[in-house]
Amino acid sequence: MSTPRLEIDLGKIEQNTRTLVERLARRNISVTGVTKASLGSPEIARAMLSGGAIALGDSRIENIEAMRRAKISAPMTLIRCPMLSQVERVVLNADVSFNTEVEVIGALSAAAQKAGTTHAVVLMVELGDLREGIMPCDIESTVRETLQFPNIELRGIATNLACRSGVKPDARNMAELSAIAVSIEGIFGLTLAIVSGGNSANIPWVLGGEETGRINDLRLGEALLLGREPLHRQAIDGLHTDAITLVAEVIESKVKPSQPWGEIGQSAFGPTPPAAGRGDTEQAIFALGRQDTDPDGLSSGDGIELLGASSDHLIADCGGRHLRVGTEITFQLNYSALMRAMTSPFVAKVTRDNCGDIPVVAKLPAEGNAHFSLEASPSSPEPQRAS
Ligand SMILES: *Cc1c(COP(=O)(O)O)cnc(C)c1O
Repeated sequence: MSTPRLEIDLGKIEQNTRTLVERLARRNISVTGVTKASLGSPEIARAMLSGGAIALGDSRIENIEAMRRAKISAPMTLIRCPMLSQVERVVLNADVSFNTEVEVIGALSAAAQKAGTTHAVVLMVELGDLREGIMPCDIESTVRETLQFPNIELRGIATNLACRSGVKPDARNMAELSAIAVSIEGIFGLTLAIVSGGNSANIPWVLGGEETGRINDLRLGEALLLGREPLHRQAIDGLHTDAITLVAEVIESKVKPSQPWGEIGQSAFGPTPPAAGRGDTEQAIFALGRQDTDPDGLSSGDGIELLGASSDHLIADCGGRHLRVGTEITFQLNYSALMRAMTSPFVAKVTRDNCGDIPVVAKLPAEGNAHFSLEASPSSPEPQRAS
C-alpha cells in the first residue's frame, strides 16, 4: 500500500455519530455532520448519515458539489458565509447557507429567483468568539431585511464559538442564543426551525446537563471523526479516537548526535528551538512533511518522539530503537493534522468499514530494542465485517 496514507474506518465514524446522535436526542438536539475536514468525502458523509446525522454541513461549495455529484441527497448547509461570486452555485447545490451580510442574502435571493428555487438562510449571531456573526443588537433589523427578500426563507439562527478565540460555549452564551430566538419569534410571529448552538466544542456543555433551551441542533465534525472535543482535546466517553490514522514510512534511520553543529541561523521554517542535549539518538526520518500534514498535530503511542519537520521530512527520536528503512508507523492526528492530510494530494486515503482493527503493517512492541522490518511484520488480516 502506498505511503503516506490515511486509514479511515468508516464503521468507527458511523458508531461515533450514532453514539452522539443518541445522547443528544435525549436533549432534543439533532446532529448536522460536518464534512469540511474530509474534503467532502462522500464515503465519510454516508457514514455520518448512517449514524443518524440529519443533515450535512460543509464550509466549501466545492465539497458540497462533490457530494451532490456522488448522489448524496441529504439536506446540505454551507456553513461558511457564501462568497458573492458563488451565490449561483450555492442556491443550486446547498439547501441552506449561514449568513451575516444582507448584501449576500440579497444576491442569494436574486440567484434563487433566476434558478426558480427557494434558498434557506440561517443568520449567524456573534456571541464573543469574534469570527463570523451579526452583533446581537443588529439581529432584529437583519431579520426584518431578510424577511423582505423573495425566494429566501429564514430557517433559523446559529452561533459559532471556540474557533477563533477559544470562547467556550457555556450556560450564559447558550441562554443568550435561546433568548434571541425567542425574541425574534415573538417580534416577527414566526417559528425558527433551526437554533444551532455550535460545533464539537459544545459537547462538554450539552453533556454537562445544563438547560439547553431552544437549541435544537449542533454541527459536529471533529467529535465524529476524532472522538474528541476541541476545548481540551479530551476523548469523549464511548467514542473511537482512532477512526482515522496516518501511516508514514521510514526513509533514513541512523544514530546521530542530538545537537546540530556549525553556526546556527534560521531553518527553512523560521527560528529553531534549541535541541535537547541528550547525547546520541536513534534518529529516523519519515517521508512525511508540511506538504502532507501538520507535523505538530501528530503523535505516536510507540515511544517515538517527534523532533522536527520540514516540507518533506519528519524527524523522530525512536527512543533507542532502530527502525529499519521501509518500516511503517501509525500516527494519531489532531484536527489540524487531519485537515491538512485530507487535503494533501500526496496522501493516499484508504477506507475500511469493518469497525475492527485496521491492519498495521509494522507495529512496535511496548518496549525493547527490537529491530523491525516489513518482512518481520505480521501479515495483514482480512478485515472482519461488522454484523
Ligand atoms: C468547522 C465548523 C463546524 C464544525 O466544527 P467541529 O469543531 O469540527 O465540530 C461547525 N460550524 C461551523 C460554522 C464551522 O466552521
